[in-house]
Amino acid sequence: MSVEIARDVAALRNAVARWRAEGARIALVPTMGALHEGHLALVHEARIRAERVVMSIFVNPTQFAPNEDFAAYPRSFDRDAAAFVAAGGDLIFAPEVTEVYPPGFVTKVSLGGPATAGLEDKFRPDHFVGVATIVAKLLIMAMPDAAIFGEKDYQQLAVIRQMARDLNLEPEIVGAPTIRAADGLALSSRNVYLRPQERAKAPLLHAALERCRAAILQGAAVDTAVASARDALIEAGFAVDYVAARNAETLAPVVARENGPIRLLVAAWLGKTRLIDNIGV
Ligand code: AMP
Repeated sequence: MSVEIARDVAALRNAVARWRAEGARIALVPTMGALHEGHLALVHEARIRAERVVMSIFVNPTQFAPNEDFAAYPRSFDRDAAAFVAAGGDLIFAPEVTEVYPPGFVTKVSLGGPATAGLEDKFRPDHFVGVATIVAKLLIMAMPDAAIFGEKDYQQLAVIRQMARDLNLEPEIVGAPTIRAADGLALSSRNVYLRPQERAKAPLLHAALERCRAAILQGAAVDTAVASARDALIEAGFAVDYVAARNAETLAPVVARENGPIRLLVAAWLGKTRLIDNIGV
């Protein structure tokens, strides 16, 4: 089995045009590589919706702050290509940074709504502008019928849905559930940063959300349940950026279950590794 690799937009568009001429539907799975089962689950979702699946592998510099891990971000192209083809993928779009951001590039997508909910945006101020701009570009470059994103990055999914709606971007935006390790830790390319003791502690993040959900379902006040989750994580040695109960669609704060379907979201550090997770109530 071999996979087609496009390094520039022209090659990507050629392949897509060829498939369109054959009457195929096309789905796009945007990633930064260092693939794990979470990414491959998105490929499976894509296969359900389309005859041809394109994955972009691009570590997008504009979504990293200067103090973040752009240079150290794990890169494993050959392994990724093998995993993608084994999962039934057709083409990898892996451009150089200069192909995506040629000299003189200045345009950015301006965001509001879920992008200013006070969650990730509060701790990574320019992150979603970088994400939204690259996703808009990828959707325009590939013009797929559908694009698949993980609920693991729940606020990101909300930002992309909002942008696609507001800018009349054609592809259907599809969210796919979070894939977890057996002990509950959400799979993430950044989990490789965790030292053994940190990895052992990391599942507490998901466990704290599960306990919070159970408490709310048993009638505990939302604020109290969220505060206990935060306390439990701090007690276990996490440095907590936020634990929050939000409206699952708008990401507006919720004070009671009557305010709509609740999503519990968390971001916390174990040593030098920042982990995020979320679950529905
Ligand atoms: P990344 O390569 O981390 O930028 O992620 C690429 C896509 O994979 C995004 O849509 C993520 O939300 C999704 N993703 C990452 N981890 C998981 C996971 N554990 N389960 C499901 N989707 C995931």
